[in-house]
Amino acid sequence: MSGGELKDLSETDCPECSAKIRIPSDAIDGEIVTCPDCGTGFELEISGSGTVTLKQAESVAEDWGE
Ligand SMILES: [Zn+2]
Repeated sequence: MSGGELKDLSETDCPECSAKIRIPSDAIDGEIVTCPDCGTGFELEISGSGTVTLKQAESVAEDWGE
């Protein structure tokens, strides 16, 4: 992991390719954003403290979170 905390709501790094993804200032929890670089879609998870986490929208996943 590189970077650590995501403090700015306006921009964050793509977990896939590290490109900058712009987050609308009025983004809501569950909103979908798309990386302009790799085209991966992410679902925003916004915590009560305002921390933004990107969750891959098209998850194939095992649940490895939490
Ligand atoms: Zn990307």
